[in-house]
This record gives sequence, C-alpha cells and structure tokens, in this order.
Amino acid sequence: MINYHIMTLFPEVIEAATNYSIVKRAKEAGLIRVQTHNIRDFSENKHKKVDDYPFGGGAGMVMTAQPIISCHNHIKTCCTDSTRTIYLSPKGRTFTQAVAQELLQYDHLILLCGHYEGIDQRALDRIVDEEISVGDYILTGGEIPALLIIEATSRLIEGVLSTPESHIKESFSDNLLEYPQYTRPQHVDEAGVPEVLLSGNHAAIEAWRFEQSIKITLDRRPELLDTSNFTKKQMEIYMKVLRERK
Ligand code: SAM
Repeated sequence: MINYHIMTLFPEVIEAATNYSIVKRAKEAGLIRVQTHNIRDFSENKHKKVDDYPFGGGAGMVMTAQPIISCHNHIKTCCTDSTRTIYLSPKGRTFTQAVAQELLQYDHLILLCGHYEGIDQRALDRIVDEEISVGDYILTGGEIPALLIIEATSRLIEGVLSTPESHIKESFSDNLLEYPQYTRPQHVDEAGVPEVLLSGNHAAIEAWRFEQSIKITLDRRPELLDTSNFTKKQMEIYMKVLRERK
C-alpha cells in the first residue's frame, strides 16, 4: 500500500482526478491512499498569503518557505514508515517507468506541487529528497505531474489491475514498445485483423507480437532496446527483423 500525500494549493484538482477509473478503485480497495494537504492552510500570514516577490527582482512570484515547511512537518508526524519527499520540478530527473517501479519501495510518497515561478530554495533544501520532472516543458503547476506519478506507480501495485499481467506486457516494461492491439469487429470498413491473431496458435501469436514490438521500437525508440534478456527464440526473431530491414 502506498500513501500519497499531495502538498498543493489546488487540492480539488487532485481530488477530482483521483476519483475515477483504476485509481478510484485502488483507493476503494485500500491498495492506495491519497491525501491532499492545502499548503495555504498552513500559512501564518494573516491573509493566508503563500507567495512573495523574488529577491533580486524578476518576473512572477515565488512560493514562501514557511507554509511549505509547516505543511511538511504536519504530514511527517503521521508517516512512521519509509517516506520519500519529491518536488515536482522541470529541473528534476525525468520520470520513466523505471522510476515509477523504484518509487514502489516507499510506504509514503509526499508530492510537493509548485506554482508561480517556483518555491523558495530554503524550503526545498530542508524537506525534499529529490526533484522529478515529467518532461522538458513547463506546466503551470505540479498537480498534473503529481497525478502522473500517482497513476503510473499505483497501476504497478499488486491487485490494482484486474489482469495483473497487463503492466508486464505494456510499453517500456521490458524495454520494448507494445505491439498493435485489435478488438471486435473483425472488419472496420476494408481493414481486417492480422490472420495470426485469429489462429488460436498462442506460440505464433506471441512470436508475432514480439516481432511487432521489435519493429515499432526500432522505428520509434531504438535507444530503448536491450537484447541482453532475450531468449534464444526472441533473439532469432530480432535477427530476422534486422536482416529484413537491410
Ligand atoms: N520557473 C520555473 C522554472 O523555470 O524552472 C517553472 C515554474 S512552473 C511555472 C510552476 C510549477 O509547475 C513548478 O514549481 C513545478 O512544481 C511545476 N512544473 C512545471 N513544469 C514541470 C515539469 N516539466 N515537471 C514537473 N513539474 C513541473
């Protein structure tokens, strides 16, 4: 079970987005817990202000240290087990499936969402274990990145997906992108379904899917490929694809 604690100025964004589909079911089944903490509630400013002008000048406002440190202290009083505090930040290490897998080791993930121009560095130095970015672009706030982390990690927890093998076969799980998927009807206008998928021959289906995964990964994300764990059969398929591409 992972306890997610989201430090945010917009708890309603997190609450709305974690109230549907797999994440909602995981919460209801007691496999994860999502708690939001409104940073503004911890402001000691009489107007509940949480931002101020940057020292040295420059555009925009900066989130002040005090409400963030107080909010974090409050959360930490109830986290007795292993805890990781993450600041969602474009300056952090890039979030990937491997990072999602790595975060499963913690009982509590405290996700700090920034806003405006960011957060006073002294608060970050005091409370943050690491910064994580969801990609090389700038968003308005850390809420959508925090939701990405909740989604990607919670679906890896045992019991969250109704078919546990789903995430094992998904893109990135074995350094390959996923093969194309088809469902009924058998024809969409002129377009049919690859014959092998209708054959009932499981070995042939698996080989076809593996070959498609290899092809799509070579075309789109060749840097992901890692052949070191391929079986003999998989290596044969891989070599065949390489020969055909020459
Ligand atoms: N001035 C900051 C900079 O240039 O690095 C960007 C601040 S951004 C407008 C406001 C907040 O959105 C950040 O504090 C961070 O929490 C979040 N954020 C924006 N882009 C992000 C990204 N790519 N990954 C993770 N968090 C991001």
